Amino acid sequence: MSLNTQEKLRCPKCGCLNDITLWQSLTVSDSLDLKQALLKGELNVLICKDCGSRAIVPTPLLYHDEEKKLMLSFMPTENAEEANKQFESIKSSSKESGELEELKGYNLRYISDYNTLLEKLLIFDSGLSDKTIEVIKLMVLLQEPDMADKRTALFGKRYDDGSIEIMVRNLDDGAVFTSKAPPETYKTIHTALKSSGVKDISFDWEIVDREYAEKLLGC
Ligand SMILES: [Zn+2]
Repeated sequence: MSLNTQEKLRCPKCGCLNDITLWQSLTVSDSLDLKQALLKGELNVLICKDCGSRAIVPTPLLYHDEEKKLMLSFMPTENAEEANKQFESIKSSSKESGELEELKGYNLRYISDYNTLLEKLLIFDSGLSDKTIEVIKLMVLLQEPDMADKRTALFGKRYDDGSIEIMVRNLDDGAVFTSKAPPETYKTIHTALKSSGVKDISFDWEIVDREYAEKLLGC
């Protein structure tokens, strides 16, 4: 079930008071329009009626796609310690409430960053595994090891022929370039991960990010 609250928020730029609907929960089956808004980066985003500036409102969102058996728990924070605390708390409450038991066969992800939330949606909508994509992203970054810590990588899209576009961004000057992995690369890595025990479903809430891929690759 999708749930929202109505709030009045000040624009961080001009201070004008805006009415906004903030969504705490989004279930795809009853709110396809909300999912589209999220994909456009417009959900829980304040677009000021006066000056037009945009600001992400840091509000938690539970995203549920019953058909894809996907649940994303988005709790925005830039503080790593805080994120860790939230992650531990969602794991224990999910277990204690019996919710985890009901989510068998699901992919469960904890996310603390809005862009990562959108990226996960794109990956799962493309029928891909985010675990495999994280490994490909890391491999792309490691093609230039000296630069790896000065860059971030983001999933771009899956082409009709199955190749994968990865967008790489320099942290210092913001320059972006794209890298393309052929379909065989995805298949090979996906198969290798599976045979080393990586599952396409979750048995508990998971964080699948660069650190996750680094552990898998033994970096
Ligand atoms: Zn404004």
